[in-house]
Formats: sequence, C-alpha cells, structure tokens
Amino acid sequence: MNHQLSHTNSCGHHTSSGERLALYENCRLCPRSCSVNRYERVGFCGCGTVPKAARAALHHWEEPCLSGIHGSGTVFFSGCTLRCCFCQNYQISSEGYGKEISISRLSEIFLELQEQGAHNINLVTATQFLPSIIQALEKADPFLHIPVVYNCGGYESLETVQALEPYVDVWLPDLKYFSSSVSGKYSKAPDYFSAASEAIQQMIRQTGPLLFEDFSENGQTCRLLKRGTILRHMVLPGQKKDSICLLNWISQTLPKGQFLLSLLSQYTPFYKSFEYPEINRRITTYEYEKVLDHAIRLGLTDGFMQEKSSAKEEYTPPFELQGI
Ligand code: SF4
Repeated sequence: MNHQLSHTNSCGHHTSSGERLALYENCRLCPRSCSVNRYERVGFCGCGTVPKAARAALHHWEEPCLSGIHGSGTVFFSGCTLRCCFCQNYQISSEGYGKEISISRLSEIFLELQEQGAHNINLVTATQFLPSIIQALEKADPFLHIPVVYNCGGYESLETVQALEPYVDVWLPDLKYFSSSVSGKYSKAPDYFSAASEAIQQMIRQTGPLLFEDFSENGQTCRLLKRGTILRHMVLPGQKKDSICLLNWISQTLPKGQFLLSLLSQYTPFYKSFEYPEINRRITTYEYEKVLDHAIRLGLTDGFMQEKSSAKEEYTPPFELQGI
C-alpha cells in the first residue's frame, strides 16, 4: 500500500525531515512531555535519538486478521513510554535491550519482512522513535504494498496520532486502565485514561470503517484487516471493575462497527509484578468470565475473545536481535 510521502503540520505547512528530527530536541512525543533534549539526555522512556530494536520477524500470535497465514511482520522497538510493572517484554521495554539501527536499515527491515511474506508491518512500541520511524516509512514507501500496523500501549498524544495519519493503516492500541490510581500505581501514568481515551477516538476517526480483504493460498483462507482500529484490553488480576468501567465507556463513546475489541486473558506476572502481591498471579476464570459476560451484555461482540487457557509465556517471543 502506498502512503503519502509528506504531511502537513497543524499550521498547514509541510513538515520536513529536519523539522521532524528536531522533535527530539524538546521531546513531547508522548503524554509524559518530558521536554528533554534527547540528543543530550534521556527522558522517562530511557531512549536516545537513534532507533533501537530487539527483533524483526514474522509473528503468529496477533489477532487472526493480522497474523493471517504467513504472520505479521513485527518490529519490536526498545524502550517504552509506559514501562508497566508487569510488562512481558520488560527486557526491551524497561531494561533497554536491543541494537541501534540507522533509518536506512530500518526501512530495509520493513522490506525484508514484506519479502518474507508478512501480511503487514507491525510497529511494536515505536512512539519514542516517532521522527525516525516516519523517515524510515517514507524511505520504504515506494516499495511497500502491505498495511502498516501501529501497535502501542494507547498512551499517545493527539499530535503523535495526527502525525502518523498518512502512514498508519491499522491502529492496534491497548486500553489498559480506567482508574487513575491503578494506572498511576502500575504504569506511573495517572493521566493514562484521559490521554488514551482521546487518542483512541482520534485513531478511529482517522481509520474510519473497518476494511477487510480475503486472502487464500494452497487451500487455506483468511480475512485480513487492511484498515481500521483494534482495541486491546488485557484483564488484570483483581481489576475486573476497572475492566467493566472501560467496557461501559467503550460502549457509550465509540462508534459501533468502526473498531474491533480484543479481550485478552493472557496476563502472566512478569518483571516487577512480585512487588505488588495482588497482581502476582494469573487471572481466575471467574474474573475473565465476568468481564466477558459484561462485554456480551453491552453488545461488544465484534472482535476477539481469548480462551482462558491462553495465559502462556510463549506469547513472548525471544529477543535475540533476529532480523535486526
Ligand atoms: S518519548 Fe520519552 S522522552 Fe519523549 S516525552 Fe515520551 S517518555 Fe519523555
């Protein structure tokens, strides 16, 4: 899929590559708004100005309309603007494991994934490198004919979502928390819901109605999402009320038929979960079913619901710089 090669800023002017890289000088790429000069020091995400990634490979554990038959072409970036205490990818998100790559190499990686048969390019936790990622997408654009998926924690600024409009075909945000005390405790982001709820509404406005395409090969068929928004929510131990508040908000606010909901039961304690005894366990069948029943009662059935048995560590791929 070809994307526009340039975009305009809020004043209607074209944004040049240089202007874009200058965004690192007073970094406000995410709602943390650290305002640091990333050429000199790091902010909350712990990242400099050179993109760093830990894995680029076909991934089969995304929603079926993204993984399809061949897999989704995931690129896992290092660092994170949220750094949740239970993160399953903590080695790269909080501990910074990964390898620095140039913008040219990043655009080559996109094309290599396409060559391997990826149904899409899936940018996982990329916001901290937004200016460089946009440059790499522009470089790859003339040769890239598969959709670009933006896979993020939902904690995005409106400006960042708007800047990505010409480049992103499918938004794949989490919607993690409703309560600010819960998001403050587990992700140090008391403003999580206010930021994510605005960002997600903007994502849906940008992608509009869901667009699918059938794909078949050697007698196998699948339906691939070409454009749209998939909202992910992972139920946390002891937080079914928070999940229910989110479902109520989704049902009351988001336009029906213009997004898919993916309810995840795969929570597994990782990283610093042991510091919080109440989340140092998997969720119970009772907790997950309560949330699931509520979604069904609200008519939020357009999407994906995981089997409760899905809490397995194999959803976390090995981070060994494959494809980087
Ligand atoms: S991207 Fe990093 S440095 Fe920039 S505002 Fe967000 S957390 Fe701070």
